[in-house]
Amino acid sequence: MKKLISLAVIISSIFVGCKSKPAKDAKVGNENGNDSIQPVTGNSGVETIKRYSKTEIKKMLTKLAETPAPTDLSFGAMCYDMAMPPPTVEYVCPVCGEKTLYNEDQFFVVNNIQNNLDGLRHLSGKIEQINLKIDESQFCKTCSPNVETPAFCLLTNIPGTKDTTKICNVSDEDLVILLEFLNGKLKHTDFYERETPLKERIERLEQLLGVELN
Ligand SMILES: [Zn+2]
Repeated sequence: MKKLISLAVIISSIFVGCKSKPAKDAKVGNENGNDSIQPVTGNSGVETIKRYSKTEIKKMLTKLAETPAPTDLSFGAMCYDMAMPPPTVEYVCPVCGEKTLYNEDQFFVVNNIQNNLDGLRHLSGKIEQINLKIDESQFCKTCSPNVETPAFCLLTNIPGTKDTTKICNVSDEDLVILLEFLNGKLKHTDFYERETPLKERIERLEQLLGVELN
């Protein structure tokens, strides 16, 4: 019985320690950690945002591809998100101000809004090295009356180039890997603090940036 109680205490303490999708930008700052390829620091020692050209982006992708994957990776918190999304969600369009209600019949859409909207809005404001915009318009029934299954889209433009890359079905994790890449990281840290080599995401980074290595 005593064993059972202590097991219950351990289990509950694991879940107490779990936040639901925590710290969206906890590990993507500009700190000159030793997993950085390229610290972004200005002459004065004050951090400045460096805007990258397409050539520099390509060089950085190549360097990421050629740099051995870090091996000191954290497994993160031993927990998973058990929170269920609400059966309905009211989406308010930031462009026209109209409200669109999604109910349990569109579980995938409710889930998508619940999981990604806040993170996409928040993280897009943190990326300054390239031009970037989140297109949420598919979620607004007034702006997009004919869309059946809405998706979030990302528009990226590398400073100095004319082309804008539009990619749909993006998640907030896409912006995390973009931010990590632009800050010269070698590791990707997910929302549960689990680390994986960022070079495993090179293909996705190429899609998000509209840059092909080969
Ligand atoms: Zn709208």
